[in-house]
Amino acid sequence: MDAADLAPSVWMKQGLLVLSRNHQLRDVLEKAPVSRSVVRRFVAGDSTEQAVEVARELDGTGRWATIDFLGEDTVDPAQATYTRDAYVTLLSALSEAGLTEGGGVEVSLKLSALGQALGADGEQIALENARAICQVAANVGTTVTLDMEDHTTTDSTLGILRELRQDWPWVGAVLQSYLYRTEQDCRDLAHEGSRVRLCKGTYKEPESVAYQDKSEVDKSYVRCLKILMAGDGYPMVASHDPRLVEIAGVLAASNGRAADSFEYQMLLGIRPDEQRRLAAQGEQVRVYVPYGDEWYGYLMRRMAERPSNLRFFLRALATKG
Ligand SMILES: Cc1cc2nc3c(=O)[nH]c(=O)nc-3n(C[C@H](O)[C@H](O)[C@H](O)COP(=O)(O)OP(=O)(O)OC[C@H]3O[C@@H](n4cnc5c(N)ncnc54)[C@H](O)[C@@H]3O)c2cc1C
Repeated sequence: MDAADLAPSVWMKQGLLVLSRNHQLRDVLEKAPVSRSVVRRFVAGDSTEQAVEVARELDGTGRWATIDFLGEDTVDPAQATYTRDAYVTLLSALSEAGLTEGGGVEVSLKLSALGQALGADGEQIALENARAICQVAANVGTTVTLDMEDHTTTDSTLGILRELRQDWPWVGAVLQSYLYRTEQDCRDLAHEGSRVRLCKGTYKEPESVAYQDKSEVDKSYVRCLKILMAGDGYPMVASHDPRLVEIAGVLAASNGRAADSFEYQMLLGIRPDEQRRLAAQGEQVRVYVPYGDEWYGYLMRRMAERPSNLRFFLRALATKG
């Protein structure tokens, strides 16, 4: 494939990532009377009950879930409180369904949805909201992982992680292999008890901070994974990439890791057969399950990653799916 073949998909990816942050389009699309089935492949539904139901179904097939209440870039303190309360309700419902014991089903948080961007006090607001969620997670016997957003938030998110880990050392972090800094962050976080989800990264980032070339991002992923697998922490291998999944298995074996000392993670609706295959061969597999009506940014990033997802989405919209 030459550069001319690559160009359209690169431009499309960049364009979709820019659109993923477009508030006008978000408002129009999220409120449009689009059939739920358009987003259903990637999103569990609007309600807590639907999220719990999907987690239960996954549990029945030997897969755990980490559940994300959709929302990001909150500019309203009341919305941040609403998001915190949604997580508290969700954790209680998961506990009542018997799904949380031993960290079976956990939750993933976006700090920007909990208030991180709310001016000078934003970090403190996000920290307090995250604290409230971690306390409930501790009460019901499960864990919390902090999603990682664009690079302007990385230091703040890792700072909040450190604060939370003083009380709840099991709080997980996400690191993104497209950032130049991530190898060092992996070294810093590869210690005992540290849960680190390694992904490639999904935001539009400048050349000053991130690899732009896919093969460089992949190579960085392998370097980071080597550090995490050789370390004393608990790596969470978040990728659908068959090569990286295979490399993770090889690295786990060469570091003498037991199957319960790391896990594979994939997104709801992406490579479900592979998720089931890994679980059937005794690997720990966790599926990231988003729910809620603020699906726009999440779905646009999935479209940017894979043109066939975009075709699926447009076809479903055209037929009111
Ligand atoms: C559990 C989880 C949590 C995440 N959390 C974050 C986060 O906090 N912050 C963040 O920035 N990003 C996050 N991401 C997204 C991540 O950064 C990537 O954008 C996303 O996972 C796509 O990268 P990939 O590793 O799957 O590889 P890609 O480069 O997208 O795909 C590599 C290969 O995987 C296969 N593949 C991918 N999609 C499909 C498909 N639909 N069907 C069949 N094969 C497919 C193909 O062979 C493809 O060539 C998360 C991802 C996961 C899985």
